[in-house]
Amino acid sequence: MRAMQVTAHGGAEVLRLAQVPDCPEPGPGMVRLTVGAVALNHLDLWVRRGHPGLKVPLPFVPGSDVCGVVDRVGEGVQRVVVGERVVAYPALFCGQCAACLAGRQNHCRHFAILGEHAPGGLAEQILLPERNVFPLPQGLSLEEGAAFPLAWLTSWHMLTQKVRLKPGDAVLVQAAASGTGVAAVQVARLFGARVLATAGSAAKCEALCALGAHEVVNYKEEDLRARVKAFTHGEGCAVVVDHLGADTFTTSMACLARGGTYVTCGGTTGPQLSFDVRHLFIKHQRIVGSTMGDVGDFQSLLRQMGPPGAGALFPVVGATFAFTQLAAAHEMLESRNLVGKVVVRVAD
Ligand SMILES: [Zn+2]
Repeated sequence: MRAMQVTAHGGAEVLRLAQVPDCPEPGPGMVRLTVGAVALNHLDLWVRRGHPGLKVPLPFVPGSDVCGVVDRVGEGVQRVVVGERVVAYPALFCGQCAACLAGRQNHCRHFAILGEHAPGGLAEQILLPERNVFPLPQGLSLEEGAAFPLAWLTSWHMLTQKVRLKPGDAVLVQAAASGTGVAAVQVARLFGARVLATAGSAAKCEALCALGAHEVVNYKEEDLRARVKAFTHGEGCAVVVDHLGADTFTTSMACLARGGTYVTCGGTTGPQLSFDVRHLFIKHQRIVGSTMGDVGDFQSLLRQMGPPGAGALFPVVGATFAFTQLAAAHEMLESRNLVGKVVVRVAD
């Protein structure tokens, strides 16, 4: 079969098309998919560029968000059938440890994100445990199905498990045109929050208004702190969702209300943060980290997910690329010149 591989760490030129052996017949409890589409995440850039602490055996097949059609099922598989369109929970887990048995699979010590710790979906086939695959919500294309798992799961977990949103809460979503950003806007709206979103261009701001943000701030042209003050009558936001890290942290904390929670799922602009602990304790604030979500979150998400207009949550595909155009897809993601997800069609 054909697969796209990261052949060395570096720029987009290290992504190469390769012929690799077909996936074997699925064993007991396993499912083989014909991959239809895969979405990119910022994680794909880390895997391609490489960073200390991330050991990727090269060459490596990336791709965390996988949507496709069941091709073969192993002995004992009951939840899906051959020919069914499915979407994958984007990480492997042991299923037996205390965290897994408690339903907290994203705390499993053997948690392995597809396309980071385990081979991903940018190949014509992938073999997955049955417990990872779920029927694609009705009305979604394979591209739309690939566009939501990791980003929407991450934002769902942050806003429903790490922060318990209340109707009327003011939520600031930084870099809201990104995958997790768009997802956070939708999830916050679903729970009745008031959403202030930031983006770096007029076109993105317009798109975010159409996607449900109550107000949008162009952070390149406007004073975010002043806008937050006006949006919250001087109180600050109950929740700040921020995956950028270094560039935005100080401003994000300044926008946080007394008793508020800063929740992070990434550090795309830099991992080192500094703050004045006196502000944190005097204002009863919390800084919370979060990675992806558990299988229960994924099932909740699937119940809410549908095509735009039908689902309370809906995938936002910003750009689509052919399988062999993965390098161009990476460049699009790096340009940040889009709203929503970059999707790669694997099946022609
Ligand atoms: Zn486990």
